[in-house]
Amino acid sequence: MIKHKNTLFARIQNEQKENGTKESRYIVQYKGGGYDGCFWEWNYSLISNPKIYGCEFLDIASSGRMGAKSLDSLITRYNEDAGFYFYDITSEEDINEFLNECNSSHIKNVFQFLNDDLGIKLFAPCPICKNKTSSKNMILGEFSGNGGISVISHSWHCKKCDSANHCESCNKFNLTTQLREDGQYYCDACHEQIKEDNEEEILENKKSEIENKAWQKGIPLSQWYDYFGGVAVQNINTGVIYATIGAN
Ligand SMILES: [Zn+2]
Ligand SMILES: [Zn+2]
Repeated sequence: MIKHKNTLFARIQNEQKENGTKESRYIVQYKGGGYDGCFWEWNYSLISNPKIYGCEFLDIASSGRMGAKSLDSLITRYNEDAGFYFYDITSEEDINEFLNECNSSHIKNVFQFLNDDLGIKLFAPCPICKNKTSSKNMILGEFSGNGGISVISHSWHCKKCDSANHCESCNKFNLTTQLREDGQYYCDACHEQIKEDNEEEILENKKSEIENKAWQKGIPLSQWYDYFGGVAVQNINTGVIYATIGAN
């Protein structure tokens, strides 16, 4: 028997009273995880009808020795640790809080679980375009290791925003991506790089054109050197400037 079984229910019931909702289905966010040499990480359960006997418990994601695989172990965790959050899935306010508080990978995973396993469709406003987005249209971004066994992301956006901000040069999502003069979609960094590369190519072509003409006339040229914001080259025999490119 689990002692204090009512503590968890009492808290949920109080929260229910506060926000006045009738249906009772809660995403429970709690400190789970706990591998060797690794700290806790957020785990998630879903509990339904906590007021009535036989409360339905669903394990959304549990990891390590602190992950709850059953209602009893969730209650044990609850009695051990105050790191618990409840989100009423019928409350827009709660869902917004869930979206603000939780990691983007977790948001997508929890939404996907609710949709795929229970047919509960939840939508989140895309952080960029604000359009309502379902889990299958959420694209995760900004990945890093979480210190545990997995890689997690730190942002998400919708599919539409993903393709609208997709740079055709580096093939990455970048909010600076826009249509450029050459009809391609590039991010700022790639756009700058491509502009520099083009300018460099044009300069090299001009230099070799000049060098070629001088060679045909038998004029020996010096190395190119910086000259008033551009470059210049000298006739070695006379010491006189033979040509300049881009000089002011
Ligand atoms: Zn969007
Ligand atoms: Zn790029």
